[in-house]
Amino acid sequence: MARIFSGIQPSGELHIGNYLGAVRNWVQLQQAHPGAIFCIVDYHALTGNYDPAVLRQRRHEMAVSLLAAGIDPARATLYAQSTVPEHTELAWIFNTITPLGELERQTQYKDKSSRQESVVVGLLTYPVLQAADILLYLADTVPVGEDQVQHLELSREVARKWNARFAPEDAPFFPEPKPLLTPTRRIMGLDGQAKMSKSMGNTIGLLEEGDAIWAKLRPAVTDPARVRKTDPGTPEVCNIYHLHKAFSPPPVVAEVAEKCSTAAWGCIECKKVLHEHMEAELVPIRRRAAELREAPELITAALDAGTETCRTIARATMGRVKEAMGLT
Ligand code: ADP
Repeated sequence: MARIFSGIQPSGELHIGNYLGAVRNWVQLQQAHPGAIFCIVDYHALTGNYDPAVLRQRRHEMAVSLLAAGIDPARATLYAQSTVPEHTELAWIFNTITPLGELERQTQYKDKSSRQESVVVGLLTYPVLQAADILLYLADTVPVGEDQVQHLELSREVARKWNARFAPEDAPFFPEPKPLLTPTRRIMGLDGQAKMSKSMGNTIGLLEEGDAIWAKLRPAVTDPARVRKTDPGTPEVCNIYHLHKAFSPPPVVAEVAEKCSTAAWGCIECKKVLHEHMEAELVPIRRRAAELREAPELITAALDAGTETCRTIARATMGRVKEAMGLT
């Protein structure tokens, strides 16, 4: 059976890009894979400038959002990365076998470092810590969005390199983890320019109120060919259509495609229908989040239990790694 691990940064609120690209899939996967591990990767959130009080708050808020979205502590394991010290221990070990050139080639590194005057080492070695996050639990399946596919290639290479050097040829120790993508593998921001991302400020928060979501949807970019309401559009090039595919039932998606391409609906009508279907899914999530905020002890209990479970697995992995590497 697949061993599932995935992580999310507490660098801001959970947005619908994270939700559709990863978290909604996590909620489904935990049904068939009760041992799935989901991690709030707080160490990964330290590479930019940040305020410790804000990080503490966001870590808590991320736990609220994930539990509200449907992560069930009775089925899956939810915890914060920094509460299991073996993550950084294994990351150091992987640093000693990861080629520098591979890290410098990573698109996300090139992109993020080009926007900074002084680049910290952690931004470069981020995928090494990510490899450690996954391999610490010997996970072979990682449900993520498309932006993480290249990092996972690196995790596979790290696993291969470590196995080649320290494991018997016929009994590799680390699996080679593969991404598990959803049909909505890459959600664009409402500006239609770049992927929806906390760092780009183009997100819709999972817990935003209906009015606030509508205020963002209304001016959102659509098919540029639809200058006037009577101009027919091409649904596939429109970001709003892709959001319909994620939120609206199939008959509605078919209707949207037809009404857009025949100009029977204007973009505002199309957005109103989308908003309705988004609300149908998001209102219960917002309600659960409000309940959880009233009961912080439930969140602490879920995270503490997750830490305990993960520490046990992590200690066992590190024991075997150290043994194989001559560190015992
Ligand atoms: P962000 O990119 O907003 O900083 P994270 O790096 O914490 O978010 O990513 C958490 C998860 O959400 C990852 O699995 C990532 O692939 C997924 N994800 C992030 N942005 C998007 C998006 N725009 N579309 C689809 N999936 C996404």
